[in-house]
Amino acid sequence: MIERVPVWAGVSEGWGVSPYRGCAHACVGCGARSGHGRLGLDAGRDFETRVVVRPNVVVRLRAELARWGGEPVAVGVSGDVYQVAERTYRLMPGVVAALAEAGVPFTVYTKSPLVLRDAGVLAEAGASVAVSIAFVDERIRRGVEPGAVGAQARLELVSALVEAGVACRVRMGPVLPLLSDAADQLGATVRRIAAAGAVAVEPVVLRLPPGTREWYLEWLGGAHPELVGRYEELYDRSGLPSAGYEERIVGQIGQLCRAYGLACGAGVAERREPRFGQLALV
Ligand code: SF4
Repeated sequence: MIERVPVWAGVSEGWGVSPYRGCAHACVGCGARSGHGRLGLDAGRDFETRVVVRPNVVVRLRAELARWGGEPVAVGVSGDVYQVAERTYRLMPGVVAALAEAGVPFTVYTKSPLVLRDAGVLAEAGASVAVSIAFVDERIRRGVEPGAVGAQARLELVSALVEAGVACRVRMGPVLPLLSDAADQLGATVRRIAAAGAVAVEPVVLRLPPGTREWYLEWLGGAHPELVGRYEELYDRSGLPSAGYEERIVGQIGQLCRAYGLACGAGVAERREPRFGQLALV
């Protein structure tokens, strides 16, 4: 149940747990799309409409945590853990309780205001929540994140989480080359994140691993055909943007963070000693 986090995810934790595979938020550039291929489903519409639920996640997670070494865990790498299915299945309170009782540091990754339902248990557990807000332009959001709530609702979510005492940072990603990376766009986004009360911003540039690449470029070819060639020049075969481009964008966001008094980066959690001792051998 606890799995290695692939490099495309761009998160600081090396391990992750995902109650859902696939995501109704349907972000065009979602790096988790290729995981659906391994389930015999496609990385395009199937990823968005055929969400695989793991109803036994809590039982299996508890069993693995009994032998866990204490490394930090990312929650929700293969699909947003507070997408609409969570209203029905309510898996997250059990996941949070299991990780908290094991004393494992963890970050919940989401774009959904449903996380507020669990704000009390998340605060009590000392969990981190990373809310993704890559840009504040609604026209862009409607095109590339059609199933997620808009930036204003996510900014209000950040304020509410901070108010509820949850350790909350904004994952400013994915920054979309040539679409949401202009200096004024980055500046407006960081300014509004700061105004929402966030204390830290983690810059993330779009990655296009196989599965995501085909889907994203197909969308780009329809919406912005003049940019397809520029993306093909910018990204290598593994789906990483050129190092120079990524450094420039991360540097610009870092400067903006300093100007607005925000920390910049994920703030990697320390490994903790496991609360359950290793199982005794008899
Ligand atoms: S919310 Fe996250 S997991 Fe869901 S589609 Fe968007 S990027 Fe992927």
